[in-house]
Amino acid sequence: MSNEIAIYIHIPFCVSKCAYCDFASYPGRMAQLGAYTDAVCREMRAQAAFFGRRRVHTVFFGGGTPTLLSGDQLGAIMDTLRACFDLSPEAEITMEGNPGTLTEERLAAYRAAGVNRLSLGVQSMDDALLAAIGRIHTAAQAREAVRMAREAGFDNINLDLMYALPGQTAAQWASTLREAIALSPEHLSCYSLILEEGTPLHAAAGAGRCAPLPDEDEIVRMDGITAQLAGEAGYAQYEVSNWAQPGRQCRHNLVYWECLPYLGVGCAAHSDMDGRRFEHDADLDAYLNSCDKLVCLNRDEGNHTLQDRMFERAMMGLRMVRGMDAERFARDFGAAPEQVWPRSIRLMTRRGLMEQYNERIRLTPRGMQVMNSVLVDMLSEIEDG
Ligand code: SF4
Repeated sequence: MSNEIAIYIHIPFCVSKCAYCDFASYPGRMAQLGAYTDAVCREMRAQAAFFGRRRVHTVFFGGGTPTLLSGDQLGAIMDTLRACFDLSPEAEITMEGNPGTLTEERLAAYRAAGVNRLSLGVQSMDDALLAAIGRIHTAAQAREAVRMAREAGFDNINLDLMYALPGQTAAQWASTLREAIALSPEHLSCYSLILEEGTPLHAAAGAGRCAPLPDEDEIVRMDGITAQLAGEAGYAQYEVSNWAQPGRQCRHNLVYWECLPYLGVGCAAHSDMDGRRFEHDADLDAYLNSCDKLVCLNRDEGNHTLQDRMFERAMMGLRMVRGMDAERFARDFGAAPEQVWPRSIRLMTRRGLMEQYNERIRLTPRGMQVMNSVLVDMLSEIEDG
């Protein structure tokens, strides 16, 4: 059992709903932010009483839009976290933010409360595309948000960007990326749009009510542009969608990809603690009414077999350029990856898609391009086995 954990805190409020969003986020309910802050604090006390005063090495405020929290609200959550857990002085403390919700005062208060990394949902530097996907801000506000964050003392900033947007060309994506890089963020997350069922954008695309989505060839060109421009600017890819300047990888997200323990606090939050999985209800009112009774097994995510766990470890680990830790895998599961996937690993290695180095197994750059088919093969082998 690891004493060291990461903590994720979900803040499920938004000014309005973006057209592509299927996250647990609720527009128009800001009046409940105060009650929600109290609920998160109550839940943390209950979780700490159950799991003990664990050492915390990363904290991540995600959403939703965490930057809707006032400085006092964020301060109250951080004070409770410090009172309940042993927060490392070197902890990475990230807050996701929407450029349309930031003020100088708020940023200064977040920084004073200990937040040392800001992840800004910029998505595009093209105002027409931002409007088409329902974002509440402009490119100018994104630039201003970065300026204000630097002014407030943030020296570790991520910009979240999305590509393959309706009507977007590879040239437009290159332009967004160049403008984002010109802001000198320490980290870039570049995600291809995924049309989630049930979202307005999915419905609009299905009914031909939005510009056509880029085809596969155009998306491959966009991937190439990301690799070229980010690489030339000194960012190294360390995960499928993530690029960082040296020493600026997101330590919190590495916890997920390495399948290390984390505690999720807040409605819809997931946890993986001491080998147990649980998630909270995504319903805001249900969460507010039961937050201090949610200790540990609120809702078990189902029975995870040993095979499920092993496959998940490979699936998450192979997303990283450094690959999965084969030694830890063998220690945790009592079998080396080569024993679990003798056929797939031999075959992928022979084809130049996979390689072993420093006790890790990783995909080669060519393997990264066909990651899905590698994983399908590994899944079928473990299911057959
Ligand atoms: S700001 Fe983020 S969480 Fe909120 S609606 Fe938009 S994509 Fe969803």
